[in-house]
Amino acid sequence: MKTLTTIESMQEQSRTWRKDDQRIGYVPTMGALHAGHTALFDAARAQCDQLVLSIFVNPSQFGPGEDFDAYPRTQDDDIALAKKHGVDAVFTPSAAELYPQTFRTWIDVHEITEGLCGIDRPGHFRGVATIVCKLFNIIRPNTAFFGEKDYQQLKTIERMVTDLHIDTNICAVPTVREEDGLALSSRNRYLSREERTLAALIPEALQEVANLASLEQSPQTLQTHIYKRLSAAGIDIEYAEVVDAQTLEPLNALTSPARCCIACRIGNTRLIDNIALC
Ligand code: AMP
Repeated sequence: MKTLTTIESMQEQSRTWRKDDQRIGYVPTMGALHAGHTALFDAARAQCDQLVLSIFVNPSQFGPGEDFDAYPRTQDDDIALAKKHGVDAVFTPSAAELYPQTFRTWIDVHEITEGLCGIDRPGHFRGVATIVCKLFNIIRPNTAFFGEKDYQQLKTIERMVTDLHIDTNICAVPTVREEDGLALSSRNRYLSREERTLAALIPEALQEVANLASLEQSPQTLQTHIYKRLSAAGIDIEYAEVVDAQTLEPLNALTSPARCCIACRIGNTRLIDNIALC
């Protein structure tokens, strides 16, 4: 497995593979890897000849007061895990090279980024879309793999790739969960033992909502169910919303396909999750 740290070396590697008709699969991450990430590697390996993983904690997607400095950085463990899962090249660029002082170009994907996480994290998806576009231009992957856990991010990237005619397929991978249903996340390690127990109520409430949805309950009833269930347990809900699965617009009636998306805080830790409704 190669470790590439400069844009030039990554571009050179990509050019060589493309010349040899190798299909490049790509998994962008911020590191602190877990089984959610390795599921993306496995999906990529099944479809592509060469697998690139990038590890970059992207400063431009963190707002003031968010956890950029505290975000877990576990590069040695990450590289060992990547090797074990058949990654061919790990790209670990520097912020200085990706964002030189002259940097002035940003990508804003409208509408899809404005609700849900976009409300409490203004500028987050602008940072995400911009870094993903930059990394796509450097790596030039045939297919890039994203987790459904970050559903709004997935839909934002799909929109960007379509709108900007980027020649990369986007492949969505289902959320990998702990045994009790909690979605794996690099941020789960911030949770105390008590908070971790509480966190299991999030997927439980989402599953209840999916069950109620099959009985044709209204989005409002479903949202109220989640708020009641989690607030009673002391979980602070940022949003719990039933939205159109493609546009992420709030729904007044359950039309297919719909998604229930949630963000909440347990202690100082912000957790997100979502479930398909129909
Ligand atoms: P990050 O954790 O922000 O580095 O995410 C890198 C990629 O891994 C994104 O496409 C995420 O959606 C994906 N990912 C993170 N957690 C999970 C999970 N539990 N299941 C599936 N994909 C995940």
